[in-house]
Amino acid sequence: MQNHGKHIGLIRIDGVEVSAVDARYRPSNYQTLLVRARKSGRAACLCSDHDLRLSIKKRGDLLHLAAWPDQAALHDESCPFYSGLGRAVDVSRNLGAEVAPQGAVHPAKSAIPVDLWDMLHSLWKGAGLNKWNPGWRRDWGLARSLLQRASAGHEAGGSAIAERIYIPPVFSQDKKQSINDEWMAFYSRLPRVSAQDRFRPQMSESSFLLGVVASVEPCSRGVLIRLQHHYAKIFLSSDYFERVARLSRRGWTQLQITQQSKSSVVAILVVELGVDDRLVATDCVLMRVGQRFIPSNFEAEDLLLAKLLEEGRAFERPLSFAQSHKQCANFVLTDTPARKTELHLTGGGFPVHRIDSWSREREQIASSRGCNVWFWHKPGPMGDLPAASKRDAS
Ligand SMILES: [Zn+2]
Repeated sequence: MQNHGKHIGLIRIDGVEVSAVDARYRPSNYQTLLVRARKSGRAACLCSDHDLRLSIKKRGDLLHLAAWPDQAALHDESCPFYSGLGRAVDVSRNLGAEVAPQGAVHPAKSAIPVDLWDMLHSLWKGAGLNKWNPGWRRDWGLARSLLQRASAGHEAGGSAIAERIYIPPVFSQDKKQSINDEWMAFYSRLPRVSAQDRFRPQMSESSFLLGVVASVEPCSRGVLIRLQHHYAKIFLSSDYFERVARLSRRGWTQLQITQQSKSSVVAILVVELGVDDRLVATDCVLMRVGQRFIPSNFEAEDLLLAKLLEEGRAFERPLSFAQSHKQCANFVLTDTPARKTELHLTGGGFPVHRIDSWSREREQIASSRGCNVWFWHKPGPMGDLPAASKRDAS
């Protein structure tokens, strides 16, 4: 660990200093550097007095950066690698005695900070909610049971989250009692944090709420969030809410759109009991979804999604774990002859003079993934989708 004095907002990848925010959320721009840094092991964040090592992970075709396990809480609070969830970790294990943790740190055995964004997307993928096949149906009841099954195989902080996640079921009068019992069982296990106690519970004890946002209303010092099919309101303090609005930009923008829309916003919240037994979220991530709970980032994607569903196509939505959708296709047709077909669209704001070179680049990337490619350049009209292979009648 080197001592360089700090430069908040910068990280160093294989000797080159770059913007922390840009590298965290637009990793596709830094692939060459990341490939080198992965070999040399030289990737560090400069937001604290001591370089904080960053980990480089591969997801799909893309390398991306993350805080070193158990060190997310050591980053400056304004740093994109900071996560308050890591407050309850034993940093001495990783850093040695030379660095005194800033502020009190509550030792814990296996508390690993959880990237909620990652968790939400992993659950979506595990539940297959980014896929569609002709003839499928999917309402919240089905989506919920698929998500619950996916949560059984998902770990956070060293233990499975299945027992620690509550996904509101579709309410019905005849199931009222069992729904209520299940909620009370979850509620009674929630960690309670008293006003004086600034320590977060261990991540292995954190509890999660997952559902479609029904409403967000302002209250003193924050907002109250309510999920569909559930009556409880969850308090989120102003500073956390600002962070959510910043990091979950698409979800947040969508929440502000009041008109009828076929898209909605999914939230995953880390919850605990605050004073007066009210539900308090200590972290939250939002994800915008279109019809059938298939992730869709903006209106043009909603239109493409609607057409795919209308035409009864088989397709999937690549999930962008790194919050940037840059090199991913918007959707991928899985029913075209011989090869899959990536569907890419450019929005109305895309610079016209760059469309050709951009399209060629997409073609190359698609081809390296063994796929054909199809484009829709807005505001031009959406052309016909590539035809599906004839389905075997036998
Ligand atoms: Zn940092």
